[in-house]
Amino acid sequence: MSRARVIATIGPACDNDEMIQTMIEEGLDIARLNYSHGDFPSKKITYDRLRKFEEKTKKHIGILADLPGPKLRLGRFDGAIPLIEGETVNLCCGVEEGTDNGLPVPWGGLSKDLRDGDPILLADGLVRLEVLSSPQKEDQVVSCKIIDGGKITQRKGINVPGTLVNLPAVGPYDKKCLSHALELGVDFVAVSYVRTPEDLLPAREMIKEAGVHTWIIAKIEHPSALNHLEEIVALSDVIMVARGDLGVEIPLEQVPAAQERVILTCLQRGVPVIVATQMLESMVENPRPTRAEVSDVATAIRQGANAVMLSGETAGGNYPLESLKTMVKISNEVTKAISDLPPPPALAEFLSTRAIAQSAVQLAKEIEADHVIVATEHANAAKLVAAFRPNIPVTAMTNRIRACRRTSILPGINAIVVEQQNRSRDTIALATSKLWKEGHLNAGDKVVSISGSPEAITGQTSTIRVLDIGEDGRVDSLN
Ligand code: PEP
Repeated sequence: MSRARVIATIGPACDNDEMIQTMIEEGLDIARLNYSHGDFPSKKITYDRLRKFEEKTKKHIGILADLPGPKLRLGRFDGAIPLIEGETVNLCCGVEEGTDNGLPVPWGGLSKDLRDGDPILLADGLVRLEVLSSPQKEDQVVSCKIIDGGKITQRKGINVPGTLVNLPAVGPYDKKCLSHALELGVDFVAVSYVRTPEDLLPAREMIKEAGVHTWIIAKIEHPSALNHLEEIVALSDVIMVARGDLGVEIPLEQVPAAQERVILTCLQRGVPVIVATQMLESMVENPRPTRAEVSDVATAIRQGANAVMLSGETAGGNYPLESLKTMVKISNEVTKAISDLPPPPALAEFLSTRAIAQSAVQLAKEIEADHVIVATEHANAAKLVAAFRPNIPVTAMTNRIRACRRTSILPGINAIVVEQQNRSRDTIALATSKLWKEGHLNAGDKVVSISGSPEAITGQTSTIRVLDIGEDGRVDSLN
């Protein structure tokens, strides 16, 4: 019931009607649109497709727009190019497409920043190059020795540890992507390469200007973000441990400890946290994961991750559906086995809502309630209830479909839309009757509800009630 949520990146391997419907039916919670790949019209087609099957399957789906950020990427070219250890390859800086003279790198400034002997990592460190002294540097062609070879395809990431510091986290192209994503109506926006809390401000500003409440996900993938972790978590709605880039920006062997520290910091603040990248990587090629990958997903969930994410496995792999099903199975199994709860979110914001959420969850446990209902306008109260991991079915009751969709990141939270009535008790009665009709409540059930005043959903959270569900589904004790 309260299993960790599953996020899947949508790409050519799964971006069709049949797959999207099946993935939603099989447990997809959040679909990630990666703005580093594809164009805006195709993002809209994917977005509309997801919403069509959200409607058809009657399951709220979160849609996450992942902004490219100041990440260097290769340009466009056809097919996979084999890079052979010991040979040389040119990086053609300032070139968008083509491979005649080497690999295209759209950012022209790279050639100026590189020094002889600098390491360059491609595709999350799969391929390692070293800059050779090159007389062609002035015309932006950098000759490199291939230290670790591999096959490389277009738009793969380039890491040159230490060179991105002066580029903004949300640059002009990110702003275009963000406007596009907000216009579509996405539920989450991931800001890449966050290094300081200030890096989040442009996205926050644009979301505010658009008059929406889209949650910002700060991607932790740079050593500087680890140095400012507490402040970044405090300013974010959600955090992602983006292990792909993190694993090239810091030594790989330090990634597990960094992951654990990020998760713990998020738990203390009640901020949902996603663990991402290479979770089931071998399933890009194979129908079954390795034991080590299953353990890795299980460890992230046991540490307290709210969500686990698939990237290439679903976007471009040979077994997108099997990858999703595998993730859902691991998540279900691990959740069943977890007995020790994570630490309470002692530093979470919204002090009074947090205290009421904690009291309600405690009360629900003591009286052995069957269900908790939390009234929530933008899903923040639901986030706080989820942070206490009640292990009892929880329904977020809201008057906004968009708040329902944001609960897709909260394990164990089911969400319903109800029309807000003048009196809190009437709104709660509407919610219980809907839950009764949908089969979530039975006669004799005890329900703990948390709501605002004077209005249940838009009012300040203030009230805890204990409700008894009668024979006909009505609430016997609502006053
Ligand atoms: C990562 O680096 O782990 C990540 C999720 O970011 P991206 O896939 O955008 O590089």
